[in-house]
Amino acid sequence: MISHTSSQWQSLSWQKILQDAIRTRQELLSALDIDESSFSEACDAPESFPILVPRPFVDRMDKRNPDDPLLRQVLATRAEWTDTLGRADPLEEAKFSPLPGLIHKYANRVLLITAGTCAVNCRYCFRRHTDYQASMMTVSRLEAIHEYIAQNTRIDEVILSGGDPLMLNDSKLGLIINKLDTIKHLRRLRIHTRLPIVIPQRVTPELCQQLIKSRLKTTVVVHANHAREIDAQVSEAARLLRDAGVTVLNQAVLLKGVNDNPNSLVELSQTLFEANILPYYLHTFDPVLGAMHFERDPVEAIEIFKQIQGRLPGYLLPKLVSERPGEHAKTLLAIS
Ligand code: SF4
Repeated sequence: MISHTSSQWQSLSWQKILQDAIRTRQELLSALDIDESSFSEACDAPESFPILVPRPFVDRMDKRNPDDPLLRQVLATRAEWTDTLGRADPLEEAKFSPLPGLIHKYANRVLLITAGTCAVNCRYCFRRHTDYQASMMTVSRLEAIHEYIAQNTRIDEVILSGGDPLMLNDSKLGLIINKLDTIKHLRRLRIHTRLPIVIPQRVTPELCQQLIKSRLKTTVVVHANHAREIDAQVSEAARLLRDAGVTVLNQAVLLKGVNDNPNSLVELSQTLFEANILPYYLHTFDPVLGAMHFERDPVEAIEIFKQIQGRLPGYLLPKLVSERPGEHAKTLLAIS
């Protein structure tokens, strides 16, 4: 185990930090000085979706606080085992997958499952039951996907998702981007990733170079749910991306016990902006099996959102959206 202070994270590679991530409940609670007996809800995580939390993210949690909003996102609780209301594939993505590794829900954009792992396992993840082996990107699958996009001239944007696409090393990521670059009707590339938040060291000059080389207009959509997830290194990572000509946006999920109050959401938007990141979406919770304890229903979500509307300028208000299987676009519940 590495024992480094937060100021020393910067000198370590992102791969090394990932390797040293916390992988058990006991280790996580011990790092935060929380006695297991004082936290009755903590529970082992299912083998299929274990605890995984990088240490720079743990450093942003409060010690001795079982209700810490960052801890709640990553610590398995008893509720994961007792939930019977959620669904394994709440967005019915399997129905919209014409090829392994490709999801085509909306007319002009497609989503590629580029990696089957993440740097953090968020307990509320709507893809926590996804069989990534079945959709894992391989050279032959990439060829088939390339062919599919090349023949669908309405598609002008590709979203790299996962898992987390920045779990790929720069050369594998470059291979995919270079391949997409050759499709003339594509105009935009989007990368959905939580890595710049949980291990901001992933945003290296080499990665930025890779993105600069593409002819596609690139947006990186990061994922932070609480202002305390943003620190100076996250801000620096976003600055590097912005300097490389990349638009940096954030999508958050409204989560019970994490950010479901106006003060948290206002602070999140303000902190993101100060870190060179613009708020983009605030998603309502997708009803995934094992995580229903995070749910606030859409009516409650709208009530909370109304309370932040008067407290933020329009450019700092995310769009409150809900995703419904089969709809041609996300459903706007409230707009800024
Ligand atoms: S990083 Fe994203 S894809 Fe990975 S577990 Fe968290 S929410 Fe899910």
